[in-house]
Amino acid sequence: MRLGIISALQEEQLGLVEAMRGPSRLIHGMREYRTGKLWEIDAVCVLSRIGKVAAAMTATTLVEKFGVTHILFTGVAGAGDTSVQVGDIVVAEALVQHDMDASPLFPRFEVPLTGLTHFQPDHGLSLRLSRAAHDFLERDFLEVIEENERQAFRLAQPRVHRGLVASGDQFVNDGKHIDGLNQALPGLVAVEMEGAAVAQVCHELGVPCAVLRTISDNANEHAAIDFMRFVKSVAAQYAFHITRRICRDLAEAPLQASRDSAGT
Ligand code: SAH
Repeated sequence: MRLGIISALQEEQLGLVEAMRGPSRLIHGMREYRTGKLWEIDAVCVLSRIGKVAAAMTATTLVEKFGVTHILFTGVAGAGDTSVQVGDIVVAEALVQHDMDASPLFPRFEVPLTGLTHFQPDHGLSLRLSRAAHDFLERDFLEVIEENERQAFRLAQPRVHRGLVASGDQFVNDGKHIDGLNQALPGLVAVEMEGAAVAQVCHELGVPCAVLRTISDNANEHAAIDFMRFVKSVAAQYAFHITRRICRDLAEAPLQASRDSAGT
């Protein structure tokens, strides 16, 4: 396998490039792609920048030019439901583009001419990812997140959620907006700006993907407060250690198309 790892912001991928063995660097389409070995897995790390077009371009390039066989997106997101707290982890079970609306020609959220509103990530890879996220919370969390950061962001007992992730070209920081999305999209757990674009590209190219998000904010009026501090001191650690865990797991027990990916 060759794993493509995408994040939107530089801070979301801190440490990963340094952890690569035998890295080499290639610039293509105004982005820097780093290829090498991450914990025995052949990997390509790249920053997509923010938004659906940027993410779609990056995912396509990873597949078409770098030959990745699987894609993992790691980053931060706003909470999509009141049961989801800052510091929790979300692993996408389905992804939707919440700003897609070609009604009345097509139903709201449907990507025209695909007949789809929801795109499914790979079942087997997502299961491995949630296992890595659970193990991270149980075994690494207290050690790697400093106590003052845990207190500052009130990270008591973070949890892992599986559910619907909605992406759009908007930073959602309005209580009414997030409530409306929560009502319109049953099972919503997170809002962000890239995941569903990557999921559509992967669906169209037949490449398995998975999306991991650390909840950085409540997608309401307080969303921008301390956003960058959270990304640097908390989310970067989550992404690094969960990626380490999933790479080790994949190296030890490679994904088997017939067993792990059933149902995609
Ligand atoms: N206010 C930030 C903007 C970053 S954009 C800043 O000052 O830099 C937000 C990035 O984090 C996107 O890549 C998106 O995927 C994710 N994200 C986190 N919280 C979000 C929210 N409430 N709404 C939309 N995207 C969010």
